[in-house]
Amino acid sequence: EEKALAKLKERIEQYDPAVDEKSLSQFSDLPISQETLQGLNEASFVSLTDIQKKTIPIALKEEDVMGTAKTGSGKTLAFLIPVVESLIRNQITEHDGLAALIVSPTRELAVQIFEVLAKIGKYNSFSAGLVTGGKDVKYEKERVSRMNILVGTPGRISQHLNEAVGMETSNLQVLVLDEADRCLDMGFKKQIDNIIGHLPPTRQTLLFSATQSDSVKDLARLSLTNPKRIGVSSDS
Ligand code: ADP
Ligand code: MG
Repeated sequence: EEKALAKLKERIEQYDPAVDEKSLSQFSDLPISQETLQGLNEASFVSLTDIQKKTIPIALKEEDVMGTAKTGSGKTLAFLIPVVESLIRNQITEHDGLAALIVSPTRELAVQIFEVLAKIGKYNSFSAGLVTGGKDVKYEKERVSRMNILVGTPGRISQHLNEAVGMETSNLQVLVLDEADRCLDMGFKKQIDNIIGHLPPTRQTLLFSATQSDSVKDLARLSLTNPKRIGVSSDS
């Protein structure tokens, strides 16, 4: 297993997005784990969409990414694959606490993300939880403290980080801000700033949105480090 991990890291290191993008067509072309490939395969995900081709290889190299592409272009896998692979590379287990945080504007979208995560993470051992404010916060708290990946709305994630004593964030590897434009339109700027304030600055940040407003650019400027900006305007 150690060997497989070393090999995976070597493949990522040797992967050159500029050159290798030309031959990138299927998920099996990516330097990702067999576990994730199996999950993708069983969910019938075979070929990458444009935004996935342009962002996943860069995100696998642990760079910050700001990805813009219209609704329906496949942004969910564009961040979920790098998230799952980051946990694998960093050998995160259930004892390591919070390693990835995925912020989504609505409960419905958070549920959708969670469902895709459950599919592609099926063969991995880390835990994932959904925090959207639908349930009693006290009930959530106990579970949340044991999760490696949390998916949730800005308000509830912010509330947990503020209130949870012993909610360890020092192992956090990746922050995802999904549908950042909608989050800002819905008035979640304060909550997002609060979430970021709780996280180690060394993390990787992946920001995705359907549109590029000035407020999204401002958020990117404040939350990302030397981001690669990727926009896909054509179909797929
Ligand atoms: P976005 O977040 O950009 O609006 P989603 O990630 O929700 O888009 O994906 C839109 C639809 O496309 C979903 O039904 C999803 O299952 C499907 N999809 C995403 N990526 C792929 C892919 N590589 N191959 C086939 N279907 C995909
Ligand atoms: Mg989406």
